[in-house]
Amino acid sequence: MELKELLKKNFEEEGVDIEETLTNVLDNLHDIVIYQNLEREILWANETAIEEFNEPFDEIKERHCYELVHDSSQLCEDCLVEKAEATGEIVEREKINPNGNLYLVRVYPVKNKEKEIKGIIRISLNITKRRALKERLEQNRLRTELFANLSHELKTPLNLMFSGMQLLKLNLEKNEDEDKYMEYLNTIKRNTNRLLKLVENLVDINKLDSRSYDLSFQNCDIVSLVEKVFFSVKEYAENKKRELEFDSEIEEKVIACDSFNMERVMLNLFSNAIKFTDKGDKISMYLSDEGDNISISVKDTGIGIPKDKQEIIFERFGQVDKSFTRNNEGSGIGLSLVNLIIERHDGEIDLHSEYGSGSEFIIKLPAQKLAQEDAERKKIEIHDSIINKIDMEFSDIYC
Ligand code: ADP
Repeated sequence: MELKELLKKNFEEEGVDIEETLTNVLDNLHDIVIYQNLEREILWANETAIEEFNEPFDEIKERHCYELVHDSSQLCEDCLVEKAEATGEIVEREKINPNGNLYLVRVYPVKNKEKEIKGIIRISLNITKRRALKERLEQNRLRTELFANLSHELKTPLNLMFSGMQLLKLNLEKNEDEDKYMEYLNTIKRNTNRLLKLVENLVDINKLDSRSYDLSFQNCDIVSLVEKVFFSVKEYAENKKRELEFDSEIEEKVIACDSFNMERVMLNLFSNAIKFTDKGDKISMYLSDEGDNISISVKDTGIGIPKDKQEIIFERFGQVDKSFTRNNEGSGIGLSLVNLIIERHDGEIDLHSEYGSGSEFIIKLPAQKLAQEDAERKKIEIHDSIINKIDMEFSDIYC
């Protein structure tokens, strides 16, 4: 027996008023239920609708549905009712109402026996709180993930420093092999730098994100800046048996940039190129003038990055291999910082990579200079030696 007949039979036998019962059910739903004619005039609304719109039914009645149920700026485009009328199908979508709440709206075309559409039933569920809860859960998940990442990143170098100090102490007590002293001291130094880098990157990334960190732009020769970074790390990389190559289409190009942070960007790309290559691999750097932009490419013949990971590596803590058994250490925040710094230069960073055969990071910076007076005003002395920066940036390279 069909539901319709079943209800009719039972209700009639028991003397229940069908209409009253159904109206009661509709009034007590958490959804707004509205019946409207094809002229879009509201003919009936349940109690939830009256409560949500905060107006008595007499005020709602015969009003145009758009005035109440969604923002009138969305009147013509993306109309659910039009779609339901045109297709004769149920249409569903999320919409923001003029009252600022988010609703899941479902529109049912009401048809007569000849299958002609005679009206529309609109059922809307207020999902504002549900959405807010979902966002809060997502924020909590991210926070938990951040703490898990941070505790790992803080604990690893601290443990290494601790064991370095213990071994040093043991050696000193026994007055043993003096060469070992330097080795343990180096472990301690490298891990101090790792911690410093992590803390500095975290502080700066938050400042850049919150826009409370102003870059210090000056007119500087980007070719010599990049060249300086390249030649400062060349020996280090060659000692690690990487083959290095530098080429530039241009000899000099003065553009507005924050040299301190640009050095940091280049060092980060270099340290990654070393970390994710093997002995005998090649790392090349290439500068070219594209008219409106200067392009700087750092290319390697290393392990490459799978396509599905090429976006997440620019996110905070985004890494291809997150396992603790991976060959290289690193926090996964370097590239997100690089991205923010390049964005602040109105530049772009692109990645071309093939998993298994290498990666190329290409930075494009606008070839623009600061007006002379701005350049004078913003000129600052950078005291921080590049050697200290290299020690810090390369502190998590082991291979
Ligand atoms: P970290 O190097 O500290 O992990 P980054 O943000 O600098 O953090 O890089 C994020 C991830 O991107 C790395 O963990 C690695 O998986 C991937 N990656 C970056 N550069 C390269 C590269 N040149 N070759 C292969 N993978 C890379």
